[in-house]
Amino acid sequence: MIVAANFKMHKTRKETIEYLKELENVEFTRVKVAVFPPFSALVENDLIGAQNAYPAQNGAYTGEIGLEQLNEFNIKRVLLGHSERRHILNESQEFIAKKFDFYKKEGFEIFYCVGEPLEVRKQGIKAVMEYIKSQFEGIDLEYEKLIIAYEPVWAIGTGVSATTEEIKETHEEIRKLTSAPILYGGSVKLNNISEILDIPNVDGVLVGSASLDVNTFKEMINKAK
Ligand code: PGA
Repeated sequence: MIVAANFKMHKTRKETIEYLKELENVEFTRVKVAVFPPFSALVENDLIGAQNAYPAQNGAYTGEIGLEQLNEFNIKRVLLGHSERRHILNESQEFIAKKFDFYKKEGFEIFYCVGEPLEVRKQGIKAVMEYIKSQFEGIDLEYEKLIIAYEPVWAIGTGVSATTEEIKETHEEIRKLTSAPILYGGSVKLNNISEILDIPNVDGVLVGSASLDVNTFKEMINKAK
């Protein structure tokens, strides 16, 4: 199982270091844990990944960080295609695919997010899969360090997780396209994580708001064992 924490734009560097210290005495056998803090809180630690990165070593890209900055902290893990990057920051599929390609060539472990908005979900699984397939455009689904996160847009940060049936059906469909691990994300909490992890083809979870409290996150790791 894989349990990942996405801090989004939460926590300072000091808070992140304290958080990682709390995780030091957690037993990780059988669970892979990843933590994605904001750029300003990147530190050298095996759990850490970047929430985003520009597809270049360095260069004239104001406001971005790239390979040079990640290398400084020996970071080899990146999250790409998160719905907030796609929908709030307007990242195109073409741009995301460029990032994927770049970090794949650098051998990064890539957590790649996909997921449909509510109006697509309402049209049923066929429409959902068409939408997800468009988010796989230009992405090498056979990349051995790929981890997919299925995160329906309407379930992120809303407290309304997808139902067991919806997760089961969607993961089953994604499984037909790739052998990569498939995480579920979107309002995963302490009270629904076990049920979600029990669903076939769910290989872990990507947790936003519930990961911010380290004790909650530790309990979630324990439930994934
Ligand atoms: P959430 O966020 O757990 O707060 O819904 C999940 C995510 O965006 O990765």
